Order: sequence, then structure tokens, then C-alpha cells
Amino acid sequence: MHHRRKDSNQPAGGGQEPAFVNRFSVPFEYPVYFTRGLCELENPLLVDTLDRLTEERRHRAAVYIDSGVTDTHPDLVDRIKAYFHRYSDGIELAGTPEILAGGEVAKNNWKSVQDVMFAIGNLHLDRQNFIIAIGGGSVLDMVGFAASIVHRGLRLIRIPTTTLAQCDSGVGVKNSMNEHGQKNFVGTFAPPFAVLNDYEFLSTLSEQHWIGGVAEAFKVALIKDGAFFEYLCRNARALATRDGAIMEEVIHRCAIIHLEHISESGDPFEFGSARPLDFGHWAGHKLETTSDYALGHGQCVAIGIGLDSYYAMRHDLISTSDLERILSAMEECGLPTWTDHLAAWKKADSLIVNDALDQFREHLGGILNVTLPSGIGQRVEVHHMDRSIIGDGLDYLEKRAKKR
Ligand code: NAD
Repeated sequence: MHHRRKDSNQPAGGGQEPAFVNRFSVPFEYPVYFTRGLCELENPLLVDTLDRLTEERRHRAAVYIDSGVTDTHPDLVDRIKAYFHRYSDGIELAGTPEILAGGEVAKNNWKSVQDVMFAIGNLHLDRQNFIIAIGGGSVLDMVGFAASIVHRGLRLIRIPTTTLAQCDSGVGVKNSMNEHGQKNFVGTFAPPFAVLNDYEFLSTLSEQHWIGGVAEAFKVALIKDGAFFEYLCRNARALATRDGAIMEEVIHRCAIIHLEHISESGDPFEFGSARPLDFGHWAGHKLETTSDYALGHGQCVAIGIGLDSYYAMRHDLISTSDLERILSAMEECGLPTWTDHLAAWKKADSLIVNDALDQFREHLGGILNVTLPSGIGQRVEVHHMDRSIIGDGLDYLEKRAKKR
């Protein structure tokens, strides 16, 4: 193969002028709301959102709901039907709301994508109709993926119902499926039409999924917002004991930091290799697959944050007392900093770690780029991870956990 050397004066194209340089940019804009009682008849947010472009048509929408939500909110389907009936001069429910198996299983099974795609086809929805997805990050990722490929993309309204989906996954521009033994191996960048976060869904979450989103809050706080980290430390106990007001504040702040990053980082569709919002995720994602999804995404991210914080400490990026504060605050919230599933990582003599870093690099593209905290609230990118320090980190987290 012929390579153009970096220092060569030879222009791209071997000196030939392109016939045309096709250059354009497409602006994206989507609102993110926080509300309560979204499906109450007197709450106009959903109908107004469907009509936010003030088009001269009755808006059709198909609704897909996470089974974990309907199990705990059994009247939801009826309330949605009543809501569409109440505003029927402007909006129309396409078919009956469909209930989809919730949790990671939604992303592990291609049939679920096909089912949603074919349902959309059978309802004869067009590209200006709406898909409304209600659920945790997994169902939102799967339905969002299906919605993004049918007719090359229908309008998607996300209604996230877990802490993690409200503060992170549901407000962003990505969706995905797990495939080829890897998290998020398949997916698209597809900004939603709107995101409607209803805090009232959160009260029915299990302990694990109540606290899961807080891991993503630690993630952004540690690399972007030291004051937010202090807030999380101060309120760790309140978060563990399900203080709703504190959780809402955490979700709101965390979601805004994610949104600001997407709109202001200059790389919303991640063409570059750096992805700060994946701090702690190279290990976190691998832990999800190697534990066969025994732990939630947030729990795996917390452990990944612990491991990379140890790594940062060993490189003098943060102090030992910073590391201890990070680990203790996450633990006080009820997030894990160790799991016995990691014992296999230690036995495998770096093989799993190598695999995890390779997959992370491939997923980002280009060279390896791992974000670490550099002081609390700031970050640095590193392009090499020393396997022996990672091994030491695993030992450290294990010993610490066994002492507790
Ligand atoms: P989840 O979607 O797997 O849901 C967890 C469980 O909670 C499920 O059993 C679900 O049925 C149930 N549930 C949902 N809402 C409920 C409610 N209100 N009450 C009771 N139960 C409810 O978990 P998650 O943490 O929301 O999402 C994790 C997924 O998000 C992972 O697959 C992760 O990769 C993905 N993610 C995506 C992005 C992105 O940018 N697209 C970012 C971060 C994470």
C-alpha cells in the first residue's frame, strides 16, 4: 500500500483537484425538560412538545414502554391513552402502547429491535411521526436505535425513568445494542426530538437502579466540576437513604453537565479519539460483559471510576486522600468499589485488561485515550495504561473492600 508521509509536501489526492468539495453543516437542537406528572391530563408538556414545531398536522405517536415501568406503574398505559384522548384534536396514539422487556436484555437481543421496527412499519409511521420511548437506559438505547434506522430516522421523544437515564443516557445523542460480546458494539448517533424527565418515576426504582445514576454524577464531577464532587460527598448519606430532593438536584446538575459537554466540546458525534464522558468506562463496560450483566451499568461504572482514580493517584494526579474520599463517598452512597467478578481479571494475567483496553480504543477510534482526573474537577487524557499499576489497583480495591 502507498502511504503519504506526514512530512511529505505532496498534497492530498496526489495533486489532483477534487471534482467538488461537498461541505455543509446541520444544526441540531432538542429541548430537555424536567417535570412531574407528565401524563396527568392537565400537564401540557407532552402535547406541547409534540407540537413544538407548530406544524399543520395531527401528530401521530407510537409509544414503547419498559416492562419495569409498567410493572410498578400499572395504570400508565391507561393514563397515556386518556392523555391522547384528552388532546385528540392535536395528537393521535398510533396503536396501543407496547410493553418491552426492561433491563440490559433489551440491548442483548436483536429480535427486540426487529420487533420495534416491524411494529413501526405496521403502524405506517412516517419520518415526521413520533416514537415515544419510556424507560431505563437499556430500553431507550434499543428503541432509539430502531427509531434511528427505520426510514433512516423517525422523531424520538425519550422519557427516561431511571436516575441513570435521566442524568446521562437519556439526554444524549447516542443509542446502541450489545453485540459481538461487546457493550454498545452497534449503534447510531441520533439526537432526539426532545427529552422529558419526570421525577415521579424514580420512587419505584430498586435500590440498585436508584443509586446507579449517581455513579455517572461522580464521573462528571471528578473530571469537570469539583464543587459538584463536594456536593456529592456532603449528600452521600441522603442519596443512600433516598432523599428525593437531593437526587433531583444531582440528576439535574449531572444532565446539564452532559448536555453542555455535547454542545460545547466541539465533537458531539465523537469523531475524535477523546471521550471524557467515558471516564471509568473502559473497565466498567468490560465488567458488565465479563460478569454477564450481574451488576448494573452504574455499579460497574463506579468500580471503573475507583480503578482509574487509583491509577490517577499512582501518577500523582490526585492525592491518596483524594482517592480515599472518592471511594468512601461512593461507598457511602451505596455504590460498590469492588466485586468478586474482578478476581477473574487478576487471574487472567492482564488478558482481560488488555482486551478491555483494546475494545475501548477500537470503539473510540484512533489511539487509546483514557480520561483521568487531574486534581478533583479537572482532567487529563493518557494514551497508555500500565498493566502492572492496573493490577495494583485491583489489589488495592479488593483489600480495601475485604477490610470493610
Ligand atoms: P436499565 O435500563 O437496564 O434499567 C434497569 C432496571 O430498572 C430494568 O429492570 C428496568 O425495567 C427497570 N426500571 C426502569 N424504570 C423503572 C422505574 N421507574 N421503576 C422501576 N423499575 C424501573 O438501567 P439504566 O441504568 O437506566 O441504563 C443502563 C443502560 O444505559 C446500559 O445499557 C448503558 O450502556 C446505557 N447507557 C447509554 C448511554 C448513551 O449515551 N446512550 C449512556 C450511559 C449508559
